[in-house]
Amino acid sequence: MKGHTHLLIGGAVGIPLAVIIPASAIPSSLPAFAISCALSGVAALLPDIDHERSTISTFLRRNLGGSKHSRGRHRGGTHSFFGTAIAGLLAGLAFHQLDPPLALPAAVIVALGYLSHLVADVISPYPMRWLWPFRRHPIRPRWIPAIPHSGFEGQLVELATIGVVLAIFVLAGAHWFA
Ligand SMILES: [Zn+2]
Repeated sequence: MKGHTHLLIGGAVGIPLAVIIPASAIPSSLPAFAISCALSGVAALLPDIDHERSTISTFLRRNLGGSKHSRGRHRGGTHSFFGTAIAGLLAGLAFHQLDPPLALPAAVIVALGYLSHLVADVISPYPMRWLWPFRRHPIRPRWIPAIPHSGFEGQLVELATIGVVLAIFVLAGAHWFA
């Protein structure tokens, strides 16, 4: 899937998770909703940091500089449960510095947003190293249909996903602001 689709899916994961952000940490409900979606959305971009042409790598290169270089095997350690846990842990530590009551909610939101990327990537024909570093062998369950994202089918799935996620955002927004 493309970066913006991962961003949208991850953002949608953040909608229900807004409830775990303590009201004491954030006074109004609007920022909690926005913060949760933003956190999980950005987290959903992170696994593709191992791909030089991904949305997150391009963004970092443009803003922080650096040149295009391979960061190792695509869909390696960043596409694993271990990578998910590390992302959650780092977010927890960072938010602990900012505001300790936000540490655990941020860790959970980032981990689940990150995980949404891995789940969305399962339809890709390429196997992922889910159990890295414990098992380096790439895994791809055969019962899941393999849909290359560049093909017609892949683009259809991508469009359908975007449509569904946007509908979820509209419904959630209507509910939230009602
Ligand atoms: Zn990916």
